[in-house]
Amino acid sequence: MNEEEIWQSVLAQIQFHISPANFATWFKNTSVLSRKDGLVLISVPNNFSKEWMENKYNKLILEIIKSLDQGVREIKYITGSHNQKTKEMAPSPIAVLVEPEQLEFQELQVDKDTNLNPRYGFDNFIVGPFNELPFAAAMAITKSPGSVYNPLFVYGGVGLGKTHLLQAIGNQIIKDLPDKRIKYLSSEKLTSSIVNAIKNRAIDSLKNLYKTIDVLIVDDIQFLAGKEKTQEEFFHIFNALYEKNKQIILSSDRPPKAIPALEERLKSRFEGGMIADISFPDYETRLAILKTKAQEKGISVSDEIIEYIAVNIQRNVRELEGALNRLSAHQKMTGKTINLAITQALLKNIIKNPTKITSFKKIIKTVAEFYDLKEEEILCDSRKKEIVKPRQIAMFLLRTELKNSFPFIGRKFRGKDHTTAIYSCNKVSIEVEKNENFAGEIELIKQRIYNI
Ligand code: ADP
Ligand code: MG
Repeated sequence: MNEEEIWQSVLAQIQFHISPANFATWFKNTSVLSRKDGLVLISVPNNFSKEWMENKYNKLILEIIKSLDQGVREIKYITGSHNQKTKEMAPSPIAVLVEPEQLEFQELQVDKDTNLNPRYGFDNFIVGPFNELPFAAAMAITKSPGSVYNPLFVYGGVGLGKTHLLQAIGNQIIKDLPDKRIKYLSSEKLTSSIVNAIKNRAIDSLKNLYKTIDVLIVDDIQFLAGKEKTQEEFFHIFNALYEKNKQIILSSDRPPKAIPALEERLKSRFEGGMIADISFPDYETRLAILKTKAQEKGISVSDEIIEYIAVNIQRNVRELEGALNRLSAHQKMTGKTINLAITQALLKNIIKNPTKITSFKKIIKTVAEFYDLKEEEILCDSRKKEIVKPRQIAMFLLRTELKNSFPFIGRKFRGKDHTTAIYSCNKVSIEVEKNENFAGEIELIKQRIYNI
């Protein structure tokens, strides 16, 4: 076997050991440079890949190579412009399987039956001291749902990975134990399904339906506070599942005790299993998160930039991701490589001075300009499609950037009221979550609003 055949064979075997996403991230554009005196040199596209290869995959790669050539003792990974060679190589069969477009498309697909989004997995969930405990509990549950920690109650602040972890459990169980019925629900969804069932006199059939589930996941359970009827019905569903050793997984922004207006009997049920909190990621974990996500998003940023973000954003994984999205939007727009000065300018509003300065006038003007409309058109009550979307975005930005109340926002637009404002803001925030291009658009508007 020559070097290239060996490397092709390594790539082919590695795909059985790691996920397609990780494969695409770390093994694309790698190639073998030489094999001499027991040393194999592998070319990798950048420093991040090098680090990952050395720390995470070296053992596996060495094992595979040794099985093909017993003389090999060591592998070194080299970054740089050796990639000409890669291009000439026959395409690896796996690279064809995991086109990036396919992965992106997959991300948008929420399964209608389970409500799970395949984007959230354990492969792209980074574990550090801040989330070790809930992660370990989650892993144990995926191995044998219903029999170890029941219920699992995960709590922690916003943007720290509760939803990601809960969904990853569901996705993993589907993979490993395809016979299990799994349902993921936000507590709003749980509430509305119960309220609707009561209205339609179908509560018994709804309860019977929920009772057939093997793994019930309810996210952000704090929103059940004060909803007595929902709590009561949920209590029955909970008990029925619990008695049959079905797995229940819950999340909240605080521990059960601290949820106001939650019935005592529910609190004590929630406390009966495992309670695990997610705290704030430490510096090293923040670096790891940023590096992985930059790689996933295909943005090239130096270590200096990664460190700058990790030092300055400390308490929210979503914000770490948001910072990278900003850089990515800017890079796409200008085509320039991001340097530290640009990073500081782009992130100054989230980092140093949370009291951003903008105004109603500035937001309307910027949105209008962005979509090539007149300010008056955004504020009037036209129902033309090309005006409705910018108007909804303007309402959303008034809410998120100026914290304007819904009635105030409604009044500012002719013929609108608070219900339209609420509807618009929800619609835009849902779209931001699920559509990366749309999120980029909003990001660019924000940059203009703050004159970045
Ligand atoms: P929460 O539900 O706690 O508000 P999310 O689960 O929605 O937080 O996480 C916010 C964002 O940060 C998501 O895009 C998620 O994928 C990402 N994220 C959070 N924690 C991690 C982690 N440990 N590893 C990788 N990504 C994470
Ligand atoms: Mg969440």
